[in-house]
Amino acid sequence: MWRRSPGCCRRLLMTMFDLTGRVAIVTGGNGGIGLGMAKGLAAAGASVVVACRNATKAEAALAELGGNSHFIAFDVADENSCRTMIRRASDRFGRLDILVNNAGTSIRKPPESYTAAEWHAVLDTNLTGAFVCSQAAHPIMKEEGGGKIINIGSMFALFGSGYAAPYAASKGALVQLTKSLAVAWAGDNIQVNAILPGWIDTELTRDARRQVVGLHERVLARTPIGRWGAPEDLSGIAVFLASAASDFITGAAVPVDGGYSAMG
Ligand code: NDP
Repeated sequence: MWRRSPGCCRRLLMTMFDLTGRVAIVTGGNGGIGLGMAKGLAAAGASVVVACRNATKAEAALAELGGNSHFIAFDVADENSCRTMIRRASDRFGRLDILVNNAGTSIRKPPESYTAAEWHAVLDTNLTGAFVCSQAAHPIMKEEGGGKIINIGSMFALFGSGYAAPYAASKGALVQLTKSLAVAWAGDNIQVNAILPGWIDTELTRDARRQVVGLHERVLARTPIGRWGAPEDLSGIAVFLASAASDFITGAAVPVDGGYSAMG
């Protein structure tokens, strides 16, 4: 196939990554990593549904995304809200091709001090919400002949955390959920993969830097590329995992971390 002319190969490459006519939902797409990925998906041609709680931030995100973007208010920790959001998104655009389960939260304290309610708040947001949204998206994608689900994990899916046990537990479980859904839905032509971001400069990690002494310096010292990531560093992998270019990849968990997880 690569014996074709350079112009032909370039067109083939562009087609592989083209998302024109595709509809993507990005939960938590109103800021941070979610918006970084939404920008990539929109630039590749997708219509993007930004699904989150904060309408003011969402309107600002839509202004950046332009064109065919749309906001749906929902609470990822509420099962009915997840199911309604998925139905409204697919009704609005008449289809659903890509679901990015990105909404997430953390509560930071020593493991012995969490209440059960705090534990459940983190697990419901980071893990159960992703499961319910995926479950609601499955029949729609299956009916359409396929789809892409992208779950946002973390370095804490690989490493323990002394100050964010429920967060680490939720992200580790999200990778196992990714593999399980990938296996279950491969026959429906739905590819399910996870991205494991390293340390990215967002509201979430600005809070972490305020709360965890020395975190900023430790991250810089351990990241071979020598900087914090920016939300836009996640745009390319989101487009790749949402596009035909990744059709033979499912159940993978891809670090996008400046080399953090490769550092011994
Ligand atoms: P932000 O705080 O900027 O974004 C979190 C997003 O989640 C917000 O858009 C927020 O929407 C949404 N969200 C949280 N709770 C809910 C809820 N109950 N219902 C609906 N939406 C909700 O942080 P990041 O961009 O950093 O985080 C995005 C994802 O990336 C998370 O899953 C996080 O765990 C993960 N991650 C981040 C890393 C980093 O270094 N920043 C590293 C590894 C993983 P709203 O504003 O409407 O509340």
